[in-house]
Amino acid sequence: MEKQRLPKSMQYIFGPVASRRLGRSLGIDLIPFKTCTLNCRYCECGPTTHLTIERRKFGPETQILDEIEYSVTKLQDQIDFITFAGSGEPTLSLSLSSAIKKIKEISTVPVAMLTNGTLLYRPDVLLDISSIDVLIPSLDVVNADMFDYLNRPHPDLCFDQYIEGLKQLRKKYQNTLWLEILLCKGINDSAKDLELMKKLLQEINPDAIQMNTVFRPGTDPDLKPLSEAELSTIQRFLGYPESPRPAIIGGIPVQESPESLPTKRIREILQRRPSTVDDLANGLQVSLTTVRQVIHRLSKNESLIATNKNGQIFYSLAGDKNSTHDAV
Ligand code: SF4
Repeated sequence: MEKQRLPKSMQYIFGPVASRRLGRSLGIDLIPFKTCTLNCRYCECGPTTHLTIERRKFGPETQILDEIEYSVTKLQDQIDFITFAGSGEPTLSLSLSSAIKKIKEISTVPVAMLTNGTLLYRPDVLLDISSIDVLIPSLDVVNADMFDYLNRPHPDLCFDQYIEGLKQLRKKYQNTLWLEILLCKGINDSAKDLELMKKLLQEINPDAIQMNTVFRPGTDPDLKPLSEAELSTIQRFLGYPESPRPAIIGGIPVQESPESLPTKRIREILQRRPSTVDDLANGLQVSLTTVRQVIHRLSKNESLIATNKNGQIFYSLAGDKNSTHDAV
């Protein structure tokens, strides 16, 4: 068995953090500080210092993979998600696909990615992120003028291409899709803008939306937040009354659990017959992400057994007299 290499220092991993969207989350940041395709006025990290749309490797891949292996192995029992995020745009990294592959090889913790979404029209980016469990792109604007004003994109980015990329996601990306919408008072929250946003949402068809506003100071101090009540009203107007709402705790928005997890039903099945993640998702008509979350939680608290059979991982719960791997 290959010995795990101990990384000299942690450059690409942060947390776990109490993420306002994803619970307790281990962060992976593959991008140097403020390297981004956009220079948003509301960015909490300050102005973009490297505005680029060029994808490349920003660090030695061996170190990235060593850090991932070390941290994920050590912390996987304490986290709900592993999240690609940080102070830049994660899809700019050409190390993304190897990083995701490494996580999937060593862990069942669901993987999420926060992205500004501007490069999702590119087939190479879509290929790299195809096995992300929860993809959370942003959409704050409904026309090119506001895109230029609020997001201040790289000059070679085209608003129509960005929007088309989001519209095509449902055909090209199979897992859970949440769309983050950040509104600034008096800037992108007019009745006309929201009407257009509603139409766009019908075409993009995300599983949920995440309403956001300028909770903390951004690059432009003149931007003003909307109130919780205003965000709730807009969320209902946009047609997503059930999407999880951020709860404000001590001034920091904290996301409630994204969905009610059918842990009890999955436990009952695994006490009777070993099942793959696909079996459970198909049988219970829930998403693969939901099943992976439950499996992950069961692995923390109960005697979950994972058996590799012909390249497929079957899960069962120990102490079950009825279970037989040959029966599947
Ligand atoms: S996309 Fe994100 S990281 Fe980039 S400038 Fe906007 S808020 Fe900041």
